[in-house]
Amino acid sequence: MKFNALLLVNTTLFLLIFRNCYAYLCPMEKQEVLALVNKGIMLPLMEEFYTIQGEGFHKGTAAYFIRVGGCDVGCHWCDVKESWNADTHPPTNIDIIVQNAAKYSDTIVVTGGEPLMWDMKPLTAALKAHQLKTHIETSGAYTLSGTWDWICLSPKKNKLPEGRIYDEAHELKVIVYNKHDFIFAEEQAKKINKECILYLQPEWSVRDKVTPLIVDYVMKNPKWKVSLQTHKYLNIP
Ligand code: SF4
Repeated sequence: MKFNALLLVNTTLFLLIFRNCYAYLCPMEKQEVLALVNKGIMLPLMEEFYTIQGEGFHKGTAAYFIRVGGCDVGCHWCDVKESWNADTHPPTNIDIIVQNAAKYSDTIVVTGGEPLMWDMKPLTAALKAHQLKTHIETSGAYTLSGTWDWICLSPKKNKLPEGRIYDEAHELKVIVYNKHDFIFAEEQAKKINKECILYLQPEWSVRDKVTPLIVDYVMKNPKWKVSLQTHKYLNIP
C-alpha cells in the first residue's frame, strides 16, 4: 500500500472511531467539548493528508494538509461541500493533529471549509512549537487569528474578507468561474498590500472554458499570474 494511502486509511479509521465516541458523550460532556472547540483547543477535523501543494506560490511543494470543517460562505461551485457542516466532523484535540502533522512534513497547510471560523492561535502556536511552517488557505470571511508564515487569501463575493487580512496576505488567489470574476479580481487587488502575489485560477468544473480567458487576461495584465490545480491533473488529494 502506498504511503499516502496508508496515512489516509489511518486517519479515516481514527475519525470513524472518534465520531462514534463523540456521539455517545452525555450533553454535559458535549458542552465541555464545544467549549474547547470555541477556544481552538479542539477543532472539527474533516481530514488530514500528506500530499503535494497543487496551487499558488508553493505548488509542487510536499505539505501536510489539515482540513478543518465548517464554512458558511456558500460558493455554489464549492468542491468540498461536505466540509460545510462542522457538526459532522469530530472535535479533535490540536495536540493529536500536530503530532500527526509533525511526522510527515515541516510545511503544514491549514484549509477548509473556512478555518478562520475557529480561533487558530492555539493550533498555530502548537505547530510553531514543533518548528513547523504554517500556511493557511482562507476566504478571509472571518477575523484573522493565528501566526502564519504564508497566507493565501481567496476572497469570495458572497462574504467578503474582514479587515487586516488584506495587509497580511502573501498571495491573493481569485477563482474564475465567469467573466465577472475578472472585475471582482481587480476590485480585490486594489485592496491588497503591494507585495502580495496575484493569481487567477480557473474553477475546476469550467476549466476548459475559462482557462483560455485567464491566459489571455494575464498576457494583457501581467501583474496577474495563472494558478492551476495541478494536484487534480496529477490525480492526487
Ligand atoms: S469558501 Fe471555500 S469551503 Fe467555503 S464554500 Fe467557498 S469554496 Fe467552499
